[in-house]
Amino acid sequence: MTHYDAVVVGAGLGGLTTAAILARAGRKVLVIERGNSVGGAASSYKVGDLFVEGSLHETSNPRWPTDPKHDVLDRAGVRDAVEWIPSNEFYEVRGGPLVQPFALPDNLVDAYNALASRFPPHRAAIRQLLDEMRAIASAADDTSSANAGPSLAQKCDALFGGDEAIKCTLAANLCYYHDDPASLPWHAFARAQGRYLLNGACFVRGGSQRLSSALARAIRAAGGAVLLRRVATHVSFDNNDRPISVTHTSRDGDDPQTAGCDRVAVNAAPTAATAMLPGSIAMRWSEAYTRRQSSISLFTLTLGLAESPRRHGITSYSTQLLPDWMTRLTDYAAATRLMANEPDGRMPPLAIANYDAIDSGIPAPPYTLSIIGPDHIDNWREPSAERYHAKRANWQAALLRHLDMHFPGLSRAVVATSFNTAHSVQSYLGAPQGAVYGFAPNTGPGSPRTPLQDVYLASAYAGSGGYSGVIEAAGACADIILRDSGLDVVNNAARA
Ligand SMILES: Cc1cc2nc3c(=O)[nH]c(=O)nc-3n(C[C@H](O)[C@H](O)[C@H](O)COP(=O)(O)OP(=O)(O)OC[C@H]3O[C@@H](n4cnc5c(N)ncnc54)[C@H](O)[C@@H]3O)c2cc1C
Repeated sequence: MTHYDAVVVGAGLGGLTTAAILARAGRKVLVIERGNSVGGAASSYKVGDLFVEGSLHETSNPRWPTDPKHDVLDRAGVRDAVEWIPSNEFYEVRGGPLVQPFALPDNLVDAYNALASRFPPHRAAIRQLLDEMRAIASAADDTSSANAGPSLAQKCDALFGGDEAIKCTLAANLCYYHDDPASLPWHAFARAQGRYLLNGACFVRGGSQRLSSALARAIRAAGGAVLLRRVATHVSFDNNDRPISVTHTSRDGDDPQTAGCDRVAVNAAPTAATAMLPGSIAMRWSEAYTRRQSSISLFTLTLGLAESPRRHGITSYSTQLLPDWMTRLTDYAAATRLMANEPDGRMPPLAIANYDAIDSGIPAPPYTLSIIGPDHIDNWREPSAERYHAKRANWQAALLRHLDMHFPGLSRAVVATSFNTAHSVQSYLGAPQGAVYGFAPNTGPGSPRTPLQDVYLASAYAGSGGYSGVIEAAGACADIILRDSGLDVVNNAARA
């Protein structure tokens, strides 16, 4: 049996980043991934001719030292291994209470000027809001006050009163974090949203798979191992409840193999990992996690167009299309459960990524358009696979009709489609509830520490979700493991 300093369960962004830092710090590392390729949600792939980006619309630009990914990706050896393509603006907002579209720049100075010129009565409040965002987003790791203070809705009410257009403008991309402005802590929103405004928004040229594959290469180059199509099924412990090995099998449950280890970093969702743990240890583990609410899920309708989306009026890289029924920011919360029923004319808010608007490196034609929106696993508890497919097809048709109203002729240009729901996220990533951001942000940030000694979380559940949150948490996880193993984090980072 080969022995490792650390076994990492799952090769999503969190597991890969932790493993790369550990391997480059001289630790002997094994990553076990049940999927066909590395990346988890941070994957891109082809369905026929259609290029599908599994997750990435935008992340804040890690080229800037103020970005939380800057140092972590450097230590993982990949910051310059991929190209970070600026998205040129944060997003364009259309619909809802906005009479005219509005483009929000991805830097604080231009954002202030654009907002102040569109909403002149709110100049002072806009200044105050952006100043607070800057302070929160640039503060060093500050999770202590994350849940204290007002919600996003309360903050907006205090600053902007009844002007719903500016509120919807400032938080049009809410599904990047959560679905309910009344329960999303202002601090959590300001921290994540402020990072885009501090550092700019960007995309990984060629798709998120490039970043995940670069991390896997960094692990292997440093002597680590990454196994694909292997499912971690069991963690064994010694008499002191410290992990001693991880057993993994092929996906059909055959060919069990065991890797000895000193430490385990869990990239899989914590509730999914409970099944890997023996009796009393599993109880301690699940007590810590089962009551915590998961984040929202997302659906993604990927369209392949025969011609550029620009020809149909989608000129921005990122467009946030708010539905007509959404007249107040707090209406957003009702959108997540719409797909529980057949389409009735009410559409969810949509975040549209047009990869042809920037130098994305995504092959075309067909031109890929990603359309995401808030979703929930309960929306898709259909009695049969046929009912699931039929309802999903009805929603796809309804979404296309809706898009056609805003971007005439778009649906006629569609030559390929792929539609992932919360149900797809749950089954492909093994993510309970189809959660995409770890724990719900209103329940406070997670931690890499777990109730078990020498077992850690290296995922969205170890901090917050999204590329920035996961990479930041995975860096913290690697630091804790290095410290717990008696190694000096700085010296080992320097050695790498
Ligand atoms: C549609 C969509 C759009 C998104 N858009 C953005 C965006 O624009 N910007 C942004 O910042 N974030 C975005 N996100 C969120 C971001 O992608 C995720 O928060 C992040 O990638 C999660 O990474 P992770 O490592 O925590 O988990 P995951 O990516 O879920 O990885 C977990 C891995 O563990 C593996 N695994 C599970 N169980 C086992 C087992 N027993 N054995 C072996 N392997 C196992 C899984 O196969 C998976 O590969 C989006 C997500 C989705 C789904």
